Amino acid sequence: MATIGANRLKVIRTVSSLRRALELPRRPTERVALVPTMGALHRGHMALVQEAQRRAKRVVVSIFVNPTQFAPNEDFASYPRDFSTDLKVLRDAKVDFVWAPSVDVMYPEGFATRLAPEGAAKAGLEDQFRPHFFGGVATVVAKLFTQVSPDFALFGQKDYQQLRVVTQMAKDLDLPVKVIGVPTVREPDGLALSSRNVYLSATERAVAPMIHRVLKSCAARIKSGEKVDRVLNVGRIEFDLAGFALDYLEARHAVTLAPISSPMDGPIRLLAAARLGKTRLIDNIAV
Ligand code: AMP
Repeated sequence: MATIGANRLKVIRTVSSLRRALELPRRPTERVALVPTMGALHRGHMALVQEAQRRAKRVVVSIFVNPTQFAPNEDFASYPRDFSTDLKVLRDAKVDFVWAPSVDVMYPEGFATRLAPEGAAKAGLEDQFRPHFFGGVATVVAKLFTQVSPDFALFGQKDYQQLRVVTQMAKDLDLPVKVIGVPTVREPDGLALSSRNVYLSATERAVAPMIHRVLKSCAARIKSGEKVDRVLNVGRIEFDLAGFALDYLEARHAVTLAPISSPMDGPIRLLAAARLGKTRLIDNIAV
């Protein structure tokens, strides 16, 4: 375990030192909050950290690029990594612990278990395009929850289906952690912050905020009484005209993610995934 700089940030690399570090300072009244990340931290991640610090005395930020949620054709090897800048940002934010296991620590030789989430994980959204994804996410998040034993775990609404899957997984497995969703942090032009935004060319970056603009106008039109199906059809054309290759634009029940065709049937969340060149962007909005 290494202490970085003048303040108390500790970088922890093994499960046994993590347990020791968290047990020693822990009193019954002291809450622990976990912020799971894959690093390359930006203001979106830091909004999760701030919410964690509001809720708990001890904050653990995990940094782990999880290989089991990437398909072989995806960007695991090239995923942005900048550990030393991440540590500086977390030290400045007065975070207590960084949990940074290696792949071998997280998945030792012989590791043979994988969760298979259903329900929200099979909503026909991300799962349709990344069928391996939620199994990998649920497995690593369940491990993070049992490793850290947090009272709270903070997840971004930016990855809305993931937030629903993790919430359901914690409930189904009786894991004693409260999963909290934090609103999406955006650039001034509306683009949701994402570690993958660095992949965008200047031209793609100029088009990218359209994803939020289209979602916002769809939400406004549904609110004003237009039929959901019609609004989505127009939205799909708008994505097309802007130059996106659209994977999906859907209206779903905000909690179950079941298809929904009217605001009378429950709270609606609009969710979209679209590709600009080689970069895949996701976003969502409440109606
Ligand atoms: P990642 O490092 O991309 O796995 O993200 C780690 C956590 O940060 C996840 O819970 C994300 O939903 C959350 N997150 C990522 N981008 C944003 C954002 N722009 N606003 C809020 N939370 C975010």
